[in-house]
Amino acid sequence: MDFIKKNIDDIKEQIKKTSKKIGEDANKVTLVAITKTIPYKIMIETNKLGINDLGENKVQELCKKHPEVEKENSKVKWHFVGHLQTNKVKNIIDKVDLIHSVDSYKLALEIDKRAKQINKIMDILVQVNLAKEESKFGISIEECDDLINLISKLQNIKVTGLMTIAPYSNNPEDSRKYFRKLKKLSIDIEAKNYDNVYMNNLSMGMSGDFVVAIEEGANIIRIGTALFGKR
Ligand SMILES: *Cc1c(COP(=O)(O)O)cnc(C)c1O
Repeated sequence: MDFIKKNIDDIKEQIKKTSKKIGEDANKVTLVAITKTIPYKIMIETNKLGINDLGENKVQELCKKHPEVEKENSKVKWHFVGHLQTNKVKNIIDKVDLIHSVDSYKLALEIDKRAKQINKIMDILVQVNLAKEESKFGISIEECDDLINLISKLQNIKVTGLMTIAPYSNNPEDSRKYFRKLKKLSIDIEAKNYDNVYMNNLSMGMSGDFVVAIEEGANIIRIGTALFGKR
């Protein structure tokens, strides 16, 4: 696992440098290891190397690996970052700490219902599709405010911020305008002072563009390839 340790050190160094550059505390940035396709044993090793936040994008895969990792360390924080079908909410509601990918009222209603059944307040992010890419999930910037207003009335859901995936590009600078838009949107929504809505989290930036994301205000970065290598 030496290469993972080296990758963690490298990424942490970049987080530190970037945070310093923009005058922010590096400890405010949470590095979520995106562990899709990664065996649970490597997830446990990664956790032992100090990464406490693990993210998955498929319900079935999360449900398979979750108990194995929990046996080792029940304090791991689980993030769900992929598209979530309404009928699968019940499978993960008791397992995850933050759902990054809420993009419809129907999904929010189901999360609220299932969270209520187990006496949980589920923290979520609203996923915004800033580039209006057909292939990507997330709601448009125009619909975001209405959706959050509706969700704010649900008792067992807490909106803690926004998430986006920038369109794929080889040049991280291409992502900057999208990250800037998401930051601005979070400020606009914060100003509305909705109940149960806190714009504390901006989940943006992946292996290719996390430095730019931090420069633009990300405090959650989702990293797969740069930690584990190409999938
Ligand atoms: C796979 C994935 C990531 C990580 O992507 P890398 O480029 O491998 O770092 C981040 N966010 C989401 C939603 C993903 O599905």
